[in-house]
Amino acid sequence: MGAAMEWGDLKQLDTLIQQTKALGADVEEIGVSGEGRAIYAVSVGDKQATRTVVTVAGLHAAEVIAPLTAISILQTLTENPLPPVRFCIVPVADTDFVSRNANDLPKNVTLQTLLNLNHQRDLEGHFTTDTYPECVAIRQWLEHFDRIDAYFSLHSAHCISPGLFFM
Ligand SMILES: [Zn+2]
Repeated sequence: MGAAMEWGDLKQLDTLIQQTKALGADVEEIGVSGEGRAIYAVSVGDKQATRTVVTVAGLHAAEVIAPLTAISILQTLTENPLPPVRFCIVPVADTDFVSRNANDLPKNVTLQTLLNLNHQRDLEGHFTTDTYPECVAIRQWLEHFDRIDAYFSLHSAHCISPGLFFM
């Protein structure tokens, strides 16, 4: 584990999420998508940590680097935990549309195939509304925290550079 992620890993995101359990992460199903797919939150680090960092990836489903980055972060953190911080991450917020994009990927992924991924809706823009059950589930999960010291939402400049991600 901890190896570099590959584009093909988009086809096995749920497996990769479950595998973080074996590395010591807590995997929790926090809700269900509109089409019935599980939405997971994965937490790593000391439960008594004084700092909590929350990250949500995949609110824009075509920005497929974000879920891969989230899982890579989780793998790295399970190997090299930062004692005073607990990291709580939703690796795939829009599981329905991310899986559509993953299904569209051929065996040999090219830049053009990544640029052509087009299953996306604006969960980020509707995050605070009740439009999407995914956003409602994630917001309810966020309410369980006593405090959140930092919050990141992972995105990429999809149409320009699908491999460049930002928060
Ligand atoms: Zn975005």
